[in-house]
Amino acid sequence: MIGEGAEQMIRRDLPFHSVEESDDGRWYIIDGVRFMSVTTALNALDKRGLVPWAGGLAAELSFLELPTLVAASRKKPCERTWNRCKHDDNETCERCPCRVCRLCVQKWVGDRHKRETARRSDEGVRVHDVAEWWSYHGEIKDHDADIALYIKSFGQFVDDYGITPEDVLLAEAILVNREVGAAGQTDGIIRFHAERSEAAAKLISRILAARGERVSWRKAQKLKLTVDLIIDYKSRENDEAKFYPENALQLAGYRHFPVIRVKNSDVEIPMLPVDGGLVIQLRPDGYSTRLVVCDRFTYEHGFLPALRTYQWVTEHGAAAVSSHTFVLPETLAARERQAAKDRAGAEQSPAEAA
Ligand SMILES: [Zn+2]
Ligand SMILES: [Zn+2]
Repeated sequence: MIGEGAEQMIRRDLPFHSVEESDDGRWYIIDGVRFMSVTTALNALDKRGLVPWAGGLAAELSFLELPTLVAASRKKPCERTWNRCKHDDNETCERCPCRVCRLCVQKWVGDRHKRETARRSDEGVRVHDVAEWWSYHGEIKDHDADIALYIKSFGQFVDDYGITPEDVLLAEAILVNREVGAAGQTDGIIRFHAERSEAAAKLISRILAARGERVSWRKAQKLKLTVDLIIDYKSRENDEAKFYPENALQLAGYRHFPVIRVKNSDVEIPMLPVDGGLVIQLRPDGYSTRLVVCDRFTYEHGFLPALRTYQWVTEHGAAAVSSHTFVLPETLAARERQAAKDRAGAEQSPAEAA
């Protein structure tokens, strides 16, 4: 969503398909051109913490499902454990993994972190949908019971900061940087007004202090100061606030991407300037906000190197260690002879057919 008139340019009911996500979610395809997804690139940084988490989940499931494991230990492998069926999850065929033999159960236990990640990511998407709907309509739309506590925390956040839908200058939109070949989806930009609440005034006062301007929060209220912040909602299952350096990197990236591609449209406008970045963590027990450093330095020294490393791994990593990369000259010559023969054959074949 774009405020102040630009919205009139956008017919949200038109079925544009000019932005798509690749099946694996690693790329945005914008007007037929592939852009690396920012979250995918930054997730690669985050792997270390996930290893003990994934191991713990598998270990816990082993105890929860002890009878299943004991039964499976006596069953011979079905030899179908690694088959990937094309049909829907609720259908079965004779190629399906048996799910009861030792190897099948072992894989099921080991894959628990994948199911957990998918479940949480699905929760996150639905929480974002409710927040986005609110910024268009000013009301909380119907939602599933499993995300109700996160939505309650979201409502608390907008109440505490006195935010109204008109303060949402930009809701979910794709930000594009064609120069570095990357794109990402921002949760938007919110204008905070000091006079609306103590929390908003203190937020503004902190940002000004970081810039060297000392304005008490009460004075910020008197002066009716405002700041525009690029925001990111994170849903977190644990009842303990935790922020990661990647949160700052992500906002540094989005803040400095030059182009906003308005969602469900082919409208592009320049990125709006902002005063900083704010992560809003929504948890079942409440929420926390955290201002993060997402300045030019963070963009150039943190975000861009991380993105480029991931791009290199994706596009050149396999070739860098492949036995096919360094080839004997004899092999190259033989390949060229074969290619020439194939070309000649292709040119002749119409004549042979005649
Ligand atoms: Zn099957
Ligand atoms: Zn099996």
